[in-house]
Amino acid sequence: MSDDTDDTTSDASVLVVGGGPAGLSAALFTAKNGLETTVFDTDETWMHKAHLFNYLGIGSVGGSEFMATARQQVDDFGADRRQGEEVTGVSETDDGFAVETADGGYDADYVILATGANRDLAAELGCEFTDEDVVDVGVEMETSVDDLYATGAMVRVEEWQAAIAVGDGAAAALNILSKEKGERYHDFDVPADAERVFGEQLAE
Ligand SMILES: Cc1cc2nc3c(=O)[nH]c(=O)nc-3n(C[C@H](O)[C@H](O)[C@H](O)COP(=O)(O)OP(=O)(O)OC[C@H]3O[C@@H](n4cnc5c(N)ncnc54)[C@H](O)[C@@H]3O)c2cc1C
Repeated sequence: MSDDTDDTTSDASVLVVGGGPAGLSAALFTAKNGLETTVFDTDETWMHKAHLFNYLGIGSVGGSEFMATARQQVDDFGADRRQGEEVTGVSETDDGFAVETADGGYDADYVILATGANRDLAAELGCEFTDEDVVDVGVEMETSVDDLYATGAMVRVEEWQAAIAVGDGAAAALNILSKEKGERYHDFDVPADAERVFGEQLAE
C-alpha cells in the first residue's frame, strides 16, 4: 500500500514545469504521497495530436481524452495545476529554486522539468547535456544540478512515447520521495486501499 505504515511527513515542495504525460505523472506521485505540488502548463502537449493504441492497459484512447483523465487524476490527489501559466525562468537559491511566471514567483525544494522537446530552461540552469544534445540524466531522472529533474521528450533523442514519458515522471517523483523519506520508497497500493482512496465514489 502507499506506505500507510510510514509516518514520515515532509513539508517539501515540488514545482513541475510542463503538464504533459511526464509532468503530470510526476505530479501524481508527489501529490499522492503528500508533497506540496504545483504544475505549470501551457497546454501545447503533443498528446493533443495523438491517438494512443500503444499505451499498455488502454486499448484505444484519444490523446486529449487521455490528458483530461490525467488532469482530473492529479487534481483529485491535491496538486495545484496552473493551466495556462508559462514558466519564464528558473534559478537556484540558497535552499532550493525560484520559479518565475507571468503571474508571479514561487519557491520550491525540488523542480521537475517536463517541457517536452524544449530544453531551454535546463540549459539556462547549467544542466549537463549529452553528446546528442539532450539533457543528461540517469534512471532516476536527476540532472547534474542537485534536486533538479528532467523528464520526457527533453531527455531522449527522438525515441518519444507517452508510456516512456509517464515512466520518467514517476521515476523522478519516486527519487524525490526517497530523499524526503530517507529510504528507498515505492508507492504500492492493494485492493483494500480503493475504498480509502475513492470512498463512496466506489460504491456508485
Ligand atoms: C502527431 C503525434 C502523434 C503521436 N502519437 C503517439 C502515439 O500514438 N503513442 C505514443 O506513445 N506517443 C505518441 N506521440 C508522442 C507523445 O505525444 C509524446 O511522447 C509525449 O507527449 C511526450 O510527453 P512530455 O510530457 O515529455 O511532453 P509534452 O507532451 O510535449 O508536454 C510538455 C508540456 O509542457 C508545456 N510547457 C513547455 N514549456 C513550458 C513552460 N515554460 N511553462 C509551462 N509549460 C510549458 C507544454 O505546453 C506541454 O503541455 C505522438 C506525438 C505526435 C506529435
